[in-house]
Amino acid sequence: DSSVCAPLAVLGRDVTVPLVTGGEVTYAALDYAASAPALQRVWDDVAAYAPYYGSVHRGAGYLSQLSTDLFENSRTTVAEFLDCREGDQVVFTRSTTDSLNLLAAALPAGCEVFVFETEHHASLLPWRDARVTYLDAPRTPDEAVHTLERALADRDPYGPALVCVTGASNVTGELWPVRELAAAAHAHGARIVLDAAQLAPHHPVSVRELDVDWVAFSGHKLYAPFGSGVLAGRSDWLREAEPYLAGGGASRKVTRRPKEAGGGVDVEWHDTAARHEAGSPNVIGVYSIAAACKALTEAGFDELVAREQRLIRTVREGLAEVPAVRVLSLFGDDAPRVGVISFVVDGWNSSHFAAALSAEYGIGVRDGLFCAHPLVRTLLGGESDEPGECGAPEAAPGEKSLNAIRVSFGAGTPDEHVERFVRAVK
Ligand code: PMP
Repeated sequence: DSSVCAPLAVLGRDVTVPLVTGGEVTYAALDYAASAPALQRVWDDVAAYAPYYGSVHRGAGYLSQLSTDLFENSRTTVAEFLDCREGDQVVFTRSTTDSLNLLAAALPAGCEVFVFETEHHASLLPWRDARVTYLDAPRTPDEAVHTLERALADRDPYGPALVCVTGASNVTGELWPVRELAAAAHAHGARIVLDAAQLAPHHPVSVRELDVDWVAFSGHKLYAPFGSGVLAGRSDWLREAEPYLAGGGASRKVTRRPKEAGGGVDVEWHDTAARHEAGSPNVIGVYSIAAACKALTEAGFDELVAREQRLIRTVREGLAEVPAVRVLSLFGDDAPRVGVISFVVDGWNSSHFAAALSAEYGIGVRDGLFCAHPLVRTLLGGESDEPGECGAPEAAPGEKSLNAIRVSFGAGTPDEHVERFVRAVK
């Protein structure tokens, strides 16, 4: 598509799909918030490296050394992409979910955790073994900061505490006031982890400027293929914690304990990122995250953000012309947002609506509660915690919907895809 600049072109541009109405059409991938298509450049980069990859941190052969260098250099690339501080660690994980679970496992004893109930389940649930305070859904960014400040004012000022917050919502696309929340956390002696799963693909993220202690994101939402993620930030809690996975690579030295001392083995763990990366790592996944960071940095976020904001306007203005459509929002129409928009259509079951977009127009969106059940239920105004993600019963005209439809896009989305989407909804 001539409307997409070449460095931001993605895979799958020419895929055609059959329509129930007959014929076929180019697939419009409008579910980037679930997984973005990989950038063509990332794929090419990975394909160029694939014949040369070998085991990392293990082999003496040339290709093992090459792979080890590329693997370790990927940490530097990611640290630069996130504008990390001196001494910050980049740990490679499987995903954002994995990164936040790793941090949850590394909390110091007695740590309190503060999390808004509006979070994605990946940031809402990993803390259940800690002393968690769930904060009410705020209706403005300022209210979010005040709610957090109030909760932190009551906390034990001498114990450790962590705030977990998302940068951009995977439901509304709205940006959260991360810098202000970080300032509030630090003013009360707490730390903060940023769930950047939806923010990093759309905006530059600077750990230094936002002043967050950790940031987590997933490769498959950042235009790399599936399978790898990142937890980056302060090293102290990570260094002091038990390894997330026990095994080779995490241990520096394993020795036999004398029989008279009861036998068994003693372990000295690494205090670098390797401490939490036991086992043979996902070399291609890690390499592809670094390739995506490089590709986005080289292409620059300016072009990406400008295009995306234009596409957001097209979608929102188009949806506003359909009286039966209600766009879901926590912070209101003027809130800054990324290309993630959820809505319901009066009289329609959202799952049927999404299925029709696919079958009749070749458009791939998502329907459901988007792994953020409390948030979506708040936005839908539902009291009940039923039903689950799938199989919501039909809402009669005038009744409340029980789930929603989400359209999301980013680098490589041609104008034609969002124009077709708006036409289809109309
Ligand atoms: N946080 C947010 C805001 C997300 O949108 C997602 C993915 N939908 C996650 C965390 C979890 O990401 P992953 O499935 O890659 O672990």
